[in-house]
This record gives sequence, structure tokens and C-alpha cells, in this order.
Amino acid sequence: MTPQAPTPVAKAAAPGRHDVLVRGAGAVGLAAALALARQGLRVALLGSLQAPSAPDIRAYALNRASVRLLEGLRVWEAIAQASRTPVHEMRIEGDDGTSALEFSAWKSALAELAWIVDAAALEAALRQAARFAPHLEVVDTAVPASLTLLAEGRDSATRAALGARMQRHAFGHHAIAARLATTRAHAGVARQWFRAPDVLALLPMDTPQHDHAYALVWSVPEARAGELLALPDAAFEAELAQATGGAAGGLGLLGARAGWPLWAGRAEPLFGHGWLLVGDAAHVVHPLAGQGLNLGFADVASLAQVLAEREPWREPGDPRLLARHARERAADTLAMMAVTGMLLHLFAHPSPWVRQLRNRGLGWVNRLAPMKQALTRAALGR
Ligand SMILES: Cc1cc2nc3c(=O)[nH]c(=O)nc-3n(C[C@H](O)[C@H](O)[C@H](O)COP(=O)(O)OP(=O)(O)OC[C@H]3O[C@@H](n4cnc5c(N)ncnc54)[C@H](O)[C@@H]3O)c2cc1C
Repeated sequence: MTPQAPTPVAKAAAPGRHDVLVRGAGAVGLAAALALARQGLRVALLGSLQAPSAPDIRAYALNRASVRLLEGLRVWEAIAQASRTPVHEMRIEGDDGTSALEFSAWKSALAELAWIVDAAALEAALRQAARFAPHLEVVDTAVPASLTLLAEGRDSATRAALGARMQRHAFGHHAIAARLATTRAHAGVARQWFRAPDVLALLPMDTPQHDHAYALVWSVPEARAGELLALPDAAFEAELAQATGGAAGGLGLLGARAGWPLWAGRAEPLFGHGWLLVGDAAHVVHPLAGQGLNLGFADVASLAQVLAEREPWREPGDPRLLARHARERAADTLAMMAVTGMLLHLFAHPSPWVRQLRNRGLGWVNRLAPMKQALTRAALGR
């Protein structure tokens, strides 16, 4: 009789011990907790499932990969239709009044280029899913686990205690976010103006009350941000009209404005024995590309796959697994940081030569169909 090879048995956590502790109940921490609990891992989530006292007024541009992850977590369909708007076209304007780069879902044979999702509605749907997820326990103090996932956001305090350092590159800019009603139908067109030194984005985002509304993200130098935030509503709307040249119709504020200081950075090291940084705790990019949360959700998808495919004798916190995940994510994250940094420098440069070159560049790329297709694929998260 030939001896039978022993059947590998997946290593389970000791009774009472969790497989994974997720620190931080933001969008990335919640998605990670849900994705890993769905695999049957015993997950503890350190954070609150209460809605924040001041709702987030931002809207996120989510790519196809992020939507796929949310669909898999049964969260996408829980977000009300009024809180997610598909983007059919994207128009990026230069600062000479004529150059533009246009992307079209129709020309790329896609149903949509991206979705604009209300930040508060997305987080509420994730919290609701976490309340009912099997294998997921919400805790109010750190518990021992094979793997600690740090999803505490860009100002994470625990990161330094683990020995990781975030090198910050400050842009000297703040992002102003607000919701706007428009007098003209947005037709699913997202618009972005690169007007050195500002970058202004209008993302089509309907609300239950307004069929044609935009979410504004306006990146401006710090001092100007202070001025814009302090302006009375009518004066702020006049500044918007001047900045957009009326291309998106008449724009009126639907509520308060809020500002965020902008910086970029990547934490080093990204993981250690039994711990891993994900989301903004691991990397922060400028919001001009609308990719910060997409990168965080891609971290979750990658980690979930690495853990699902792990050798049965490896615990979730095994550094070999974490190294696999880090290798998988490195190129994506570094490329996104490089592209957003390069665009910002290019469009902030005051020289008239650089201005002419970048505006011509927009026109050239606009006429190069294969390059536009490649850019579209990259923005979709493949
Ligand atoms: C103006 C603006 C617009 C943006 N637009 C887009 C966009 O269009 N598309 C996109 O993809 N991204 C966008 N982003 C980026 C996006 O907001 C972030 O990437 C995303 O919110 C990061 O999520 P997170 O869960 O990693 O961090 P966070 O959202 O910061 O969540 C971290 C959570 O951890 C909690 N926490 C902190 N410390 C502790 C602790 N010690 N213990 C327990 N809990 C803790 C916090 O309270 C919080 O709940 C934008 C950013 C800005 C500023």
C-alpha cells in the first residue's frame, strides 16, 4: 500500500483568537473587514459603526475595479441609485480656452467610464453590511490576531508605533469640496479644468432633490483656499462662474463648503511580521486623478486574493503572504503617484513655453486614439 500524502488543513486561529484585526472603520477598513470575513476568516473591526456627526460632503469617482469589489461584497446594490451617477464622458480642459482632451464611454465601447458615488452613502452602505456580516465582530479595543490591518487613514497614529514612516510631499494646496446645482443638464459629463495653479473638477452627481447637480473638487493654493472658503455664497458662485467660463451652466451652492490640505506620500515599510498598511494609511495621492480610494479598494482586492490562495499552513499574518501582496500593489501605486505628481508640476509651471507645450500636448493626445484607449483602461483599474 502506498503511503497517502497528508491532506493539508487550513490553519485556523486558536479558539477565541481572531485571524485578522482591522484598525479603522473608514471605507477601506470596512471593505477589507467584509472581504476577509466573506472568506470565513474571523475578523475583528476596531472602529465605530455609528454615522459621523458631520456627513462627508465629498463624492468619489470610482473605477470599474472598485465597483466590482463592492458588487462582490453586496454593497453596490445597497447604495441608492440617487447616490451614484454614471460618467459617460470626461472632458479635460487646458488653460488656453481651446485645448481639451475628451474621453467617451461610447467610443470605448463601455457602458460608463466611472461612477460618481456620494461618500456618505457609500460609507453608510459599508457600515450596514458590516452590522450583518458573519465572522465579523466590532470591538472597541485592540485584540490579538494573526494579522493586523492598519486602515486608519492618512493621519494614522498607529503607523509610527509599528515603525513605518510616511514621507509627506506637501503641495501647498487645499482641496475645496461642495455640492452644486446647475442650470444645464450635465448629461453624465465629468469636467476638469487645469488652470495653473488651480485644478477644478465638476463631477456629475445627482441628489434625490436635484436631477442635475455636480460635486466640486477645486484644488487651489492654501491662501486662496482660505479666501474662497470665507467668501459669501454669491461671491463664491461668481468665482466658480469665472473659473468654468459658464461651460457647465450656472452653478449654485447646495450646501456648505469644506477644505482639505493636500499632500502625497507612501509609507515605508508597508508591512512587517503580522501587520500591513492599506488605503490612505499606506499611500496618499492628490485627488486630481480621483484615485485615492480606488487604490485603497485595489489593496483590499489584492489582499483578499492573496489570502484566499495562501498555502494551507500559512497564517494570514505570514510576512511571505504580505510580501506577495506588496509586490502586486507596488507598480500600481507608484505609477499613480508619479502620474499625478507629474501632471501637477506640468500644470503649475508658470513659463509660457511650458503652458503652450502642455496645451498642445492635450490636443495631441486627444487625436491619438490608441493612447486615449490606454489611458481609459488605466483609469478604469483594468
Ligand atoms: C477632496 C478629496 C476628494 C477625493 N476624491 C476622490 C475620488 O474621487 N476618488 C477616489 O478614489 N478617492 C478620492 N479621494 C481620496 C479618498 O478620500 C481616500 O483615499 C479615502 O477616503 C481613504 O479611505 P481610508 O479608509 O483609507 O481612510 P479614511 O477615510 O481616512 O478612514 C480612516 C478611518 O480610520 C479611523 N481611525 C483613525 N485612527 C484610528 C485609530 N487609532 N483606531 C481606530 N480607528 C482609527 C478614522 O476615524 C476613519 O474612520 C479624495 C480625497 C479628497 C481629500
